[in-house]
Amino acid sequence: MIKLELPVVKFTAEQTEFRNTVREFLIEEKKRGAFESRCDSWLSGESVDFSRKLGQKGWIGMTWPKKYGGRERSALERYILTEELLTAGAPVAAHWFADRQTGPLFLKFGTEEQKNFFLPMITKGECFFSIGLSEPNAGSDLAAIKTKAERTDGGWLLNGSKIWTSGAHLSHYMIVLCRTSPFDPNNRHAGMSQLVVNMKAEGLTVRPIQFLTGQHHFNEVFFENVFVPDNRLIGIEGNGWKQGMAELAYERSGPERILSTYPLLDELIKILRENDDEEGMREAVSLLPELWTLRNMSMGVAKYLEEGHDVNMAAALVKELGTKFETSIAEKARLLLSQLPSIESAELINRFMAQSILHGPGFTLRGGTTEILRGIVAKGVVSQ
Ligand SMILES: Cc1cc2nc3c(=O)[nH]c(=O)nc-3n(C[C@H](O)[C@H](O)[C@H](O)COP(=O)(O)OP(=O)(O)OC[C@H]3O[C@@H](n4cnc5c(N)ncnc54)[C@H](O)[C@@H]3O)c2cc1C
Repeated sequence: MIKLELPVVKFTAEQTEFRNTVREFLIEEKKRGAFESRCDSWLSGESVDFSRKLGQKGWIGMTWPKKYGGRERSALERYILTEELLTAGAPVAAHWFADRQTGPLFLKFGTEEQKNFFLPMITKGECFFSIGLSEPNAGSDLAAIKTKAERTDGGWLLNGSKIWTSGAHLSHYMIVLCRTSPFDPNNRHAGMSQLVVNMKAEGLTVRPIQFLTGQHHFNEVFFENVFVPDNRLIGIEGNGWKQGMAELAYERSGPERILSTYPLLDELIKILRENDDEEGMREAVSLLPELWTLRNMSMGVAKYLEEGHDVNMAAALVKELGTKFETSIAEKARLLLSQLPSIESAELINRFMAQSILHGPGFTLRGGTTEILRGIVAKGVVSQ
């Protein structure tokens, strides 16, 4: 199979009906002040109450088996839901990682006990996860991680640190990639494992790192002899690299890699229309064909993921192109409007612009940098 040949997705009438239901719910929630739209809401819009509400509606882990609290809905329905949440700028960050990748990780590699314990709590919006991959000297070169877990009675003792951990201060558990065997320079990916670490464990410290906006979003996390029980190993000891890589397609190809600044695009077009600014409108809508194309690619990856295809290369391409697109919306708005971006402004457009500009530098870093993704695509093309 050609790894970049993606299927075209068409929605059924039932799926469109579901989209309308979600849209109406979000309009109502916003009207009654349950949330205020923001850009980059999937990473920095946290609301425990809102996550719980989505859980009650069955909209977290909605594709998972019913016996674990899921609703056995399709990946495309989940795609519709996430698209609606993102375009509305809804506060979904608290449960985002658990819904997007931790749940699927447990389903694929977890023990029955882990699935029964964690998945129902996640689907209720009552259990949040963070992702502990990056370390001070191991980002793009993730195989350089040094955090290690050594065997002790009944489990492991974890020592080391993680950095840039989104939402570590809000999450109940973290999936930590660590070394469970000494580093082997001839096989750098061997000897790693994934552990579920309780954020309340003794010896674990979370230290905030502020965004350019001043918001507390990500963190440094330190582990000093943190005890992790045996039953908190995910999958097979030493298989952590392979398992972690399987998560990346979920992480890279979703609509959140295209729509982080969509609320700004929407508001920009609204203002240009109100101002009868025809030339500005022409400029702004020139972004739409790119949005449409990226959306089709991202939906194609979602469909292939559900069918079990290898989509790593296509997911890398969606993220590389998508995050550049998100950044270009902020640039377009800056050129077309004489507004002063400000986080504190009473005007929505100014807040959206400030959020997009100040969060923008992270878009092409988080989840794999542009250069790394291009490397994956280039290698994939050469190997075909
Ligand atoms: C908003 C945000 C949220 C994040 N959340 C999380 C999180 O929840 N959990 C987590 O574990 N991490 C998280 N990260 C960290 C993110 O995964 C890393 O920033 C990313 O992997 C890059 O690693 P680094 O920062 O160490 O940069 P480096 O790897 O040091 O890269 C620096 C520069 O060098 C380039 N470069 C590096 N290697 C190569 C190469 N081989 N070829 C060409 N160019 C190269 C990179 O492209 C980049 O431009 C987050 C980051 C951001 C910005």
